[in-house]
Amino acid sequence: MRAVYPGSFDPITLGHIDIIKRISNIFDEVVVLISHSAEKQSLFTVEERMKLIHEALKDIKNVKVDHHQGLTVDYVRQAKAKVIVRGLRAVVDFEYELAMGNVNRKMAPDIETLLVNASPEYYFISSRMVKDIAKNKGDLNGFVPKHVIKPLQSKFAKSMNKGGKK
Ligand code: ADP
Repeated sequence: MRAVYPGSFDPITLGHIDIIKRISNIFDEVVVLISHSAEKQSLFTVEERMKLIHEALKDIKNVKVDHHQGLTVDYVRQAKAKVIVRGLRAVVDFEYELAMGNVNRKMAPDIETLLVNASPEYYFISSRMVKDIAKNKGDLNGFVPKHVIKPLQSKFAKSMNKGGKK
């Protein structure tokens, strides 16, 4: 069975990787789906995010990376998958995920949303927090994979330079 794990992955963190590794042991194939929209601002381009995810998951054989603009359920149907996986961290995630899961079920009753608990060591990691750490020149070890650290730091080095020139 194929599962789709959608998100922004801006950038991929150790929390995402933990979920992907765990679900890749359950499903025959996992598609990590970068959901993007023209309105939503992101730090990394879709291509950059794809590259960072590929590198992070190169040792897992049954994982694919793709991107999609629009409704996740449309992608899931077209990919002939039946399951959407979402990670669950704090209680604050719960309400949003419950609403999203119900909306998706209304649109596509044949597709099930599976909520997977974050592992305790990654419970507090979010892409937003990681960007904040990078912006403030904090230590990113233990939050993102090693190959993500440099690209993340250079994003903020660039934006600081731009700011300086103005
Ligand atoms: P979105 O912008 O759609 O929330 P994210 O890239 O932030 O996308 O997250 C993608 C999925 O991964 C979401 O289901 C989110 O709850 C989950 N997730 C994010 N960080 C973690 C983490 N540290 N542990 C477990 N799941 C996580």
